[in-house]
Amino acid sequence: MACRIWLCYCPGDALEGLVRQFHNSFLDPFPKIGYNAGRIAFFAIHRKTKSGNEQGDATSLIRQIDFTTEHVHKLFSQPMFTATTQLRSFVQSHRLAGRRVGLVPTMGALHEGHLSLVKMSNEQCDATVVSIFVNPTQFGPNEDFARYPRTLENDLRLLESVGSPAVFVPDAAEMYPAGFDTSIHVGSVSLPFEGAIRPAHFDGVATVVLKLFLASQADVAFFGQKDYQQLCVLKKMVADLNVPIEIVMGPTIREPDGLAMSSRNRYLSEADRCRAVALSQSLAEAERMIVTENVRSAETIRQAIRDKILLAGGMTIDYIAVVNPLTLQELTAIETKAVILLAVRLGATRLIDNMLITTE
Ligand code: AMP
Repeated sequence: MACRIWLCYCPGDALEGLVRQFHNSFLDPFPKIGYNAGRIAFFAIHRKTKSGNEQGDATSLIRQIDFTTEHVHKLFSQPMFTATTQLRSFVQSHRLAGRRVGLVPTMGALHEGHLSLVKMSNEQCDATVVSIFVNPTQFGPNEDFARYPRTLENDLRLLESVGSPAVFVPDAAEMYPAGFDTSIHVGSVSLPFEGAIRPAHFDGVATVVLKLFLASQADVAFFGQKDYQQLCVLKKMVADLNVPIEIVMGPTIREPDGLAMSSRNRYLSEADRCRAVALSQSLAEAERMIVTENVRSAETIRQAIRDKILLAGGMTIDYIAVVNPLTLQELTAIETKAVILLAVRLGATRLIDNMLITTE
């Protein structure tokens, strides 16, 4: 059995409540209603009598049907899995039918940045899976794992607005069963910048992402430019380990004032939110200096960014770096291509941003 559908008749005005009730049950207390790792789902239908009056009892369970996986895929536009085996069989069924499958790994608390990656996957693939997992191993002991926003219901609603991709929501025991004792460490691109400030971070990212790649066996995975160094680390891992997946980068999506969207922006006080705009403004100013004024000295660029950020106040700079976009090695002079990486702290919140520069 892949999925059990309960069909209920209910009066029109009760339908919404009933669906919501089922929806909530679906999301939250899985065991209470026997939701077992994605095997049981609920479905309510609305029936009208010939005279046009609704009839029925909102709570009456009239039929219970067991469906095969294939039926479920047809019936549900947003399949949700908690078990790796289900994710794999979902992806495999698409791949066997010759369909290209895209994966968008996330930690939830979705915003337009994540949704833009889902849209890219929708355009380039026949089926999309979004994974939502707040990965404990990529947070340091004094970081924000416990308070990281978890907004699954809202995430699912947002995903409905971009075509209801399949959703993989494993728990920690699914990803890290008892005795888990393996870690992926990527070499030199993972060491500076974020890697220096958050020592175990990229090992945690690489390990969980490789698990997601292997679990899903998707054809292509989408990541945001927002986390540029992460992208370099993952590309290196895929190349070095011959992981059969293509990695595609999506552009950084920004708020109207330029601040890069981030699940962590919600932590910012009003004053810090105002100051934070200095990140994108300083990067835009750096780009203008390089492209329009032909400034080539990395130190001059770093200094200009530093001045702008310090002028905004309230921020501690973790790093400003002008680097080779492939190797992430620091440049002294900007030739054809560079990426500027930037990280600051505002109170307890860290923000990162970057800008790809092409002078040709
Ligand atoms: P996260 O949930 O923060 O782990 O991010 C999941 C994916 O979304 C990563 O590939 C991020 O780079 C990407 N992402 C996060 N913020 C943005 C953004 N503002 N624009 C584009 N992609 C983003």
